[in-house]
Amino acid sequence: MAGKIKIDAERCKGCGLCVPVCPQNVIAICEKSNSRGYFPAEAVNAGCTGCCLCATVCPEVAIEVYRDDNVVAVEPSRSQQNPSEPHTKARNGRYVK
Ligand code: SF4
Ligand code: SF4
Repeated sequence: MAGKIKIDAERCKGCGLCVPVCPQNVIAICEKSNSRGYFPAEAVNAGCTGCCLCATVCPEVAIEVYRDDNVVAVEPSRSQQNPSEPHTKARNGRYVK
């Protein structure tokens, strides 16, 4: 498994936004309600890639995403590929001088 999520069932309001956005179809709505009467999302996790789409769309910030760094490939920045390359990769993903 390259990724794993944890959903805070008490924070979740069961809006369902995270379910269709998951490209791996590993999130479902639970049949049991939480203490506030909402039916929270639950994770199956098998197949999760750690893409973070679910956490990004969650309006309640109820999803934490974990990645296995030994499995997830990280693209090296251009400056690491060629030390003479004057460009470096900024946090926003763009290349800057
Ligand atoms: S991190 Fe990506 S693959 Fe994993 S559950 Fe969330 S949306 Fe699905
Ligand atoms: S998007 Fe957030 S609040 Fe909505 S069902 Fe998923 S975990 Fe719950």
